[in-house]
Amino acid sequence: MNIPFNMPPVTGDELKYIETAISAGELCGGGRFSKRCQSWFESKTKTKKALMTPSCTAALEMAAILIDVQPGDEVIMPSYTFVSSSNAFVLRGAKIVFVDIRPDTMNIDEQKIELAITTKTKAIVAVHYAGVACEMDRIMQIANEFGIYVIEDAAQGVMADYKGRALGSIGHLGCYSFHETKNYTSGGEGGLLLINDEQFVERAEIIREKGTNRSLFFRGMVDKYSWVDIGSSFLPSEIQSAYLHAQLQHADTINEDRLQSWNYYYNNLCSLVEVELPVVPPDCNHNAHMFYIKLESLEERNKLIAFLKDNGVSSAFHYIPLHSSEAGKLYSRFHGQDEFTTIESERLLRLPLWYKLTDMEKDKVIDSVISYFKI
Ligand SMILES: *Cc1c(COP(=O)(O)O)cnc(C)c1O
Repeated sequence: MNIPFNMPPVTGDELKYIETAISAGELCGGGRFSKRCQSWFESKTKTKKALMTPSCTAALEMAAILIDVQPGDEVIMPSYTFVSSSNAFVLRGAKIVFVDIRPDTMNIDEQKIELAITTKTKAIVAVHYAGVACEMDRIMQIANEFGIYVIEDAAQGVMADYKGRALGSIGHLGCYSFHETKNYTSGGEGGLLLINDEQFVERAEIIREKGTNRSLFFRGMVDKYSWVDIGSSFLPSEIQSAYLHAQLQHADTINEDRLQSWNYYYNNLCSLVEVELPVVPPDCNHNAHMFYIKLESLEERNKLIAFLKDNGVSSAFHYIPLHSSEAGKLYSRFHGQDEFTTIESERLLRLPLWYKLTDMEKDKVIDSVISYFKI
């Protein structure tokens, strides 16, 4: 038995809804399935507007346009994140200012943000790693004090919350991912922009429609549509939304199943003194996006990866800190000391976790990890 690292979620209704979209002859974006998904998220997250996008990367790019990032502006974020968190802003000419992470949650250290703010700071990107929230009260307080925006990269945070508020709905704008490696997928690629701040709603629809006021035209609010702003093709196909719709109908089942697997790992590995387990602060309800363990060192992690592989278990790590990457050197600076970013990222190892992972599979992963330390 080989255990892959990830299996995309499938609920069984995906083809049915895709067929509905095909028979209705509605394939381009903005149709009934995008509207259904958007309404689902608007009510679930209590946000003013949700817009389906082709990816979380695209949603982040829309966010960068919406807050009007100009060349030379600075955007603060953790270095321990996916490239899209920074690329979206670099594309608009921003300089990225990285701040260290907290070793407990692997999220940006909210205590170190204020010192990184300059007169050029435009926004803070809060990345909710593993679906565990950043310390949003503090981050919003800093942002309000300095008059800067907060963009939540909640790619991993669908169905998770902070003090009862959905991740992605707390900052000015929030971005979700429906990539096949995330908890819910729209058929491999997909994303969503959550708009909390009403001032952005109308312009977001224009930017998503290639810079035209096409959506106002469809609502009968203008008699012809034309080019009114910058924009791009940020509209996903109805096939993607139909796929996602099938997953959202089972959102609670998927969430509970993942949490059960997460707890199973936690309970069976917590007595192992050689590893550290994830920390979920009391204000956070996470969504079991990932289960990771932390080893003593990079060397120990590499040995464990090889051992697990020999035992048919795929594990993974990720995020070479962006400030030490080739492009990171060109487009960013690290503010303050890298006390935890590099060292903690080198110790982290993700175990297989997906919807419908069986107990037998989990037992095999757990036994393999334990036996590595017992030989
Ligand atoms: C997955 C991910 C993204 C990118 O999502 P796409 O939908 O693949 O563009 C961005 N940020 C974080 C933190 C992610 O985990």
